[in-house]
Amino acid sequence: MVKEKETTGKESNFIDNSDETSAKDRSIRLVTKSNETPEGDGFVVHRSFPSQSIRNLDPFLLLDEMGPLDLLPYESKGFPEHPHRGFVTVTYMLEGRFEHKDSQGNSGKLGPGDVQWMTAGSGLVHSEMPEKEFAKSGGRLHGFQLWINLLKTDKWNKPDYQDVPSTKIPQVNTSDGKVSVKVIAGNFGDAKAVINTLTPILYLHFTLQPGGEVVQTIPENLNAFAYVIGGKGLFGKDKTAVDEKNLIVFKNDGGNISIRESDNAKSPLDVLLVAGMPLNEPIVQYGPFVMNTREEIDKTLEDYRNGRIGKIDF
Ligand code: FE
Repeated sequence: MVKEKETTGKESNFIDNSDETSAKDRSIRLVTKSNETPEGDGFVVHRSFPSQSIRNLDPFLLLDEMGPLDLLPYESKGFPEHPHRGFVTVTYMLEGRFEHKDSQGNSGKLGPGDVQWMTAGSGLVHSEMPEKEFAKSGGRLHGFQLWINLLKTDKWNKPDYQDVPSTKIPQVNTSDGKVSVKVIAGNFGDAKAVINTLTPILYLHFTLQPGGEVVQTIPENLNAFAYVIGGKGLFGKDKTAVDEKNLIVFKNDGGNISIRESDNAKSPLDVLLVAGMPLNEPIVQYGPFVMNTREEIDKTLEDYRNGRIGKIDF
């Protein structure tokens, strides 16, 4: 929620921070820099987790900043044919264009601001590559991929896509013009995302101008993190300064997360804020397969070897 009362137009959506009894600000558990990691056919991603210090952030399994990568004309780098089973992949493009194809015959394109929320469920094989026309001219590719675990009972769901163009993603601007937010999942005040999630997930993209401040309410039981795309911000109860390419993991010690952009900042603060309900179920992961037991992983590897997860036919 935004501090300024006039911002969403409904009194009930605000937390009055001048009141000492209002919900507590969360403090920070850790801040960690993302690591450059080659993926796919040499596409360098900045991986926040998994890492040596963070195995996962239940229900989240992975966060990659894809690029930014500048492609020369006719250069093509991406993520050729690979499988997934047992979780959700969320691709959020900031710049450039990707196209995907899968073993079920689905295909689609993703441009700046578009989101693909793919429930891999029982599994599929797909490719995610620069779009052909885009690759001809070259240009910058930049985006995010987030992996979200599925409950045991949802892991065998039929694969499902929610392809959401940027125009369908609610964007809220505060009346002071200092904060804008894109609501990818969950809600920001009255603005509700169009994406349906199987467990409670919040996925917001904030842009704060100098002097901007936002206080987002998040139920205490949800795990939450932020990732700084650009600029430098002040986060959490202690207003810890964090700059780009860093992940901030919050403690579950309050119902608010505060993000501030310092008054004398030279550039806007661009940040993702993500939260989700922990599943508290066993995780056995083998690369792109995330199940609950070793036996299920063995079966999945056998299914993959025998082509039962699929093949791309084109
Ligand atoms: Fe993939």
